[in-house]
Amino acid sequence: MGSLMEASLFTRKIEGEIVKEVERLKGEGHSPSLSVIVVGNNPSTMVYFKNMSHKGVELGFYVELRKIDETVAQAEVLDLIQKLNQSPEVDGILVGLPLPKEYDVDAVLHAISPDKDVDAFHPFNMGQLMTGKPRFIPATARSIIALLENYGVRIQGAQAVVVGRSNIVGKPVASLLLQRDATVTICHSKSVDLAKYTRDADILVVSMGRPKAITADYVKEGAVVVDVGINDVGGKIVGDVDFDAVRPKASLVTPVPGGVGVLTTLMLFDNVLKAARINAGKR
Ligand code: NAP
Repeated sequence: MGSLMEASLFTRKIEGEIVKEVERLKGEGHSPSLSVIVVGNNPSTMVYFKNMSHKGVELGFYVELRKIDETVAQAEVLDLIQKLNQSPEVDGILVGLPLPKEYDVDAVLHAISPDKDVDAFHPFNMGQLMTGKPRFIPATARSIIALLENYGVRIQGAQAVVVGRSNIVGKPVASLLLQRDATVTICHSKSVDLAKYTRDADILVVSMGRPKAITADYVKEGAVVVDVGINDVGGKIVGDVDFDAVRPKASLVTPVPGGVGVLTTLMLFDNVLKAARINAGKR
């Protein structure tokens, strides 16, 4: 029976480090801040960003959450981003996804200054990550690596298989694993015979958005399995991994909820701290 790879064991430590750094920066006269823009009226998106903002405030950050009606034109949102880019009071900028379908998502995300791009969506920051010189790293990818490292999982030399190639999870985590000397395979919806790849994995990272898609047949005996999926099935949150079936086969497995997702907000605010240090250095 595989052990649980839970985030709760070390969130307190990470939170403590973040609070200390917030206080240090405040002591130097710089109060770290995040501006969040949410366009549209999707209630679950709003709940997510409200919870995230509350956590930031609890950690000592100044967080401004702007709710913008979906009838507002993209040009107005771009103007707002430019103002925030220029404001010395704003360290990090985050635009909530999804955006209304009339919007050009890339145009909006790429308008954010790379120095304030705490979600790491800007091609400059993606390029820095892909070339092995990461500045901002997407929070979920950082959380996955933090979990593996905190549980002492050997990454160097491991066969790592990442299922999913999104810019926000799959690609960055594959890059981070490669930088830590794993041999990395990335699978996606057009991969033929997915199980052929996943059954080779010492470390299997799953970010598909398909509830319980990874069953025991996809997993090698003794593998470390990281489930990134967050799927609402009839009001219950489940991962992309069939947890009950996979756990007996794996050596370590993340629960959903209680795994990767728990750390993501903390890693995001750690990115805000990095942005604050960059911003403070410009004064
Ligand atoms: P995404 O952008 O929807 O990408 C899904 C990826 O999975 C795509 O690359 C897709 O392939 C691949 N895929 C879909 N069905 C597949 C199949 N049957 N076989 C193989 N590959 C398949 O998703 P995402 O943003 O990475 O998010 C994935 C999941 O993680 C979601 O449940 C999301 O809610 C969750 N999530 C969690 C966190 C967290 O902090 N825990 C953060 C972000 C996302 P193609 O590229 O070919 O379409």
